[in-house]
Amino acid sequence: MLFEVRYSDLAGRIGKIKTPSGTFETPAFIPVIHPVSQSVDMDFLKKLGFEAVITNAYITLMKYGDLAREKGIHGIINFDGPIMTDSGGYQVLEYGSIEPEPSYIAQFENDIKSDICVPLDKPTGYGLRYDVAERYVNETIKNSQETLNLIKSNNERNSVWVGPVQGAEHLDLVKRSAGQLDEMGYEMLALGSPVQLLESYEFAILADMIAALKSKVMSKPIHLFGAGHPLTIPLAVALGCDTFDSASYILYARDNRYMHANGTSRLDKLSYLSCQCPICINMTVKEFVELEYEERIDKLAKHNLYVLRGEVLSVKQAIMEGRLWEYVGQKARAHPKLMEAFKLFLNYKYLEDGTPVFKKKAIFFMETIDQYRPEASRIRKVFDSFRTNKKKIILFPDTQVSPFYTSHEYHKLSSKFSDYQICAYNPFIGIIPAEISDIYPAAHNLISKKKLNVNSVKDYPTFVSSFENFLSHSYFDDVIVIADEFMQGIVHQTNLEFKNLRIIEYNDDVIEQI
Ligand SMILES: [Zn+2]
Repeated sequence: MLFEVRYSDLAGRIGKIKTPSGTFETPAFIPVIHPVSQSVDMDFLKKLGFEAVITNAYITLMKYGDLAREKGIHGIINFDGPIMTDSGGYQVLEYGSIEPEPSYIAQFENDIKSDICVPLDKPTGYGLRYDVAERYVNETIKNSQETLNLIKSNNERNSVWVGPVQGAEHLDLVKRSAGQLDEMGYEMLALGSPVQLLESYEFAILADMIAALKSKVMSKPIHLFGAGHPLTIPLAVALGCDTFDSASYILYARDNRYMHANGTSRLDKLSYLSCQCPICINMTVKEFVELEYEERIDKLAKHNLYVLRGEVLSVKQAIMEGRLWEYVGQKARAHPKLMEAFKLFLNYKYLEDGTPVFKKKAIFFMETIDQYRPEASRIRKVFDSFRTNKKKIILFPDTQVSPFYTSHEYHKLSSKFSDYQICAYNPFIGIIPAEISDIYPAAHNLISKKKLNVNSVKDYPTFVSSFENFLSHSYFDDVIVIADEFMQGIVHQTNLEFKNLRIIEYNDDVIEQI
């Protein structure tokens, strides 16, 4: 099997991709290697745990031709692990068109024993008119079909062929492109050319593009081209990208840009080097800036690789702990454009599929966006389908004693109101019937409740609909709502048309007083 998934959270997956030169773990950052003038040596990349690299088949063809066919790409760039080859699509993007036919490039990738190969595509970049983008998509699909026809008969090594998805911000083109490449039989897909998008921090458009692709292809591994900014990694992984490549480490270094977990800064504008990598702990900013040009670029590129490595590992750790939502949320605070993308997560229902039904740790609810996390959406559906024969109901604030039916308050309520349906309510997950208050995450969440003011009922639409649904399922003769500050905000701003509704303000002795 090409791709094996071991753990997942949201749409992020820890898995393994199998290639003729060995397997490697995902999510993986795949550094771009220049086949002619590689700056950082391969042993260093290996030592840092980069198990796979990507290089350009077109440049290799132009520079080495038959020598590459003879030595193989592993001999040319001196790397014995999995090597991915980009066909030259980026050169198409930069220079318009390149000479060789798609089938010629594909045969060359096959001849040089590339492990993960991409057919010649025509990247749509960003900002193209719809009809032009559509033409590029059609051309890429045509090339991809021709390539597959050629490869079917001579892929003895079982190299992985990757279908290049184009369409950019025209999401219907992305969907069509992904769907057709999937049907053709590509085992892995790659989302094309978001470089220009990412340079302008258009993370929200990127998020929609990834979601559009995932709406067509859920289980196959997904590569993202040109994603080497530290802020892009958690976002792309959470939305379902398994591998991503970039030359950012060296390009940024040449531009004097120093990566850190929350973005990049100009090296000469820094006051301190907070990074703990072996390069930064041995130097001051002044010493770094004053290095000879070549040495500075080399050290800065290496530092950047340490940061990318750290980011990938942090994301993996977050997946293992079931905390990817929290992690992306933290990152989102590093840049308003990333926050914009994070807020779109509420539209991406597929994030539920990869989120475990049960997690070892309690989840945190801190801000209104957290009501949309997959665990919350999932349990609201369970609560919505709950039915009771009881004709009376009492709603009480969630005690955060887990589960609710073990709380002191529940015992008092059940002895005093024995013929009532007893429910807790929680701003982030809705109305919780006491009988099933042990279902994850009803009994496994922590909320910052103090001062949880409802500025607008519009901030908690999921709660309002959970509330209304629950009460409208059955005919209740008597509805008692013990309203804390949050619930008072909700009932004041909602037109609740239930007969026999009594709102009682919450206080510590409220149960005795009813
Ligand atoms: Zn460093």
